[in-house]
Amino acid sequence: MSSDASNTDPTPLALKLRRAISERGPIPLHDYMQACLYDPEHGYYRKRDPLGRGGDFITAPEISQVFGELTGLWAAQVWMQMGRPQPVRLVELGPGRGTLMADALRAARVAPGFLQAVAVHLVESSEVLRDAQKATLAGVPVQVHWHDDAAELPNGPAIVIANEFFDCLPVRQFVFDGAADVWRERVVAFSDGAFGLATSTAVAQPPLTAASHGEPRDGDILEFCPGVEPVLATFAARAGHAPLAALAIDYGYTNPAFGDTLQAVRRHKFAGLFDAPGETDLTAHVDFSRLARLSEAAGFDVFGPMPMGEWLLRLGVEARANQLLARASAEEARAIAQSVARLVDPAQMGALFKILSWTRGISDPPPPFGGHG
Ligand code: SAH
Repeated sequence: MSSDASNTDPTPLALKLRRAISERGPIPLHDYMQACLYDPEHGYYRKRDPLGRGGDFITAPEISQVFGELTGLWAAQVWMQMGRPQPVRLVELGPGRGTLMADALRAARVAPGFLQAVAVHLVESSEVLRDAQKATLAGVPVQVHWHDDAAELPNGPAIVIANEFFDCLPVRQFVFDGAADVWRERVVAFSDGAFGLATSTAVAQPPLTAASHGEPRDGDILEFCPGVEPVLATFAARAGHAPLAALAIDYGYTNPAFGDTLQAVRRHKFAGLFDAPGETDLTAHVDFSRLARLSEAAGFDVFGPMPMGEWLLRLGVEARANQLLARASAEEARAIAQSVARLVDPAQMGALFKILSWTRGISDPPPPFGGHG
């Protein structure tokens, strides 16, 4: 068992989980991650705004306005490809502080008729971030609606954006026991005063077959995110009746491989999985090949994954940055150049982050996949 005790006082969630484990035994890693993020009283996303310099991590729209602006132009173009339906739902999953949406709506003013057609629908589980979104979007010239869950979204033509949403969904992990030739689920135990990872003695049947990953060897870890499928299913159900285009941007991988991608981040630094439960962000890399496979199986046309840096370049990030640079002071210009480089440079976020797009009921590929972007 690996242990990761922290020296500080246990958090309220740590005490709650200790009690649960001592009463019922070790819990699946998935349930630990679920509690850390979404426990109704103490979950990470219940109580805080995790974004920005004063928080734990920073995201692309918070780094540079060009990210949301290009996403807004992308949405306007997709709307034109749909035949300019009115109304069109502009949906965002996990909108954070509302920064991406504010930048997107401002940039999309240039598309005649788009804002008149748009109703914004935000899917957000955090009360704190909902308040931040209300403040950021107070002056926008469109209606904004909030939902707890994607399943509550109304029907009709929709454009869906999800930046760093899928990485929040808890994962299950399975460990291959080579001697017995079986998989067992990874669990969180509590012993000798510390949380630690362990492997359940029970045999498990991972929902993914090894076909996508190759033959497992002893100790290999298979990671699986059960929350992806229900989200995609709600969009698949809607897309049967009206055009739909979705855009997911996240860090993740294209070729599935065995391994543990779970990570804990606190105050812009990597932390231990068991450091301050409920006060540390836990995420896992997104399996883009599975997102693509599930979307294809649901009848969508799938585009990508494409490295985020390439996507931004092909959407014209340089031209947009140059417009900003033209009106900037020397100091501002340095900051603009640095933040755009952070998004585009493959050595920074440009390659680890990827975009995947899936559409239905639209004959043209979304930009920049049509070749004219
Ligand atoms: N897209 C934003 C924020 C990313 S952080 C940005 O790029 O800055 C993750 C966001 O998803 C937060 O707004 C968080 O509250 C929300 N979120 C996480 N899990 C969720 C869930 N299961 N349902 C709805 N929203 C969720």
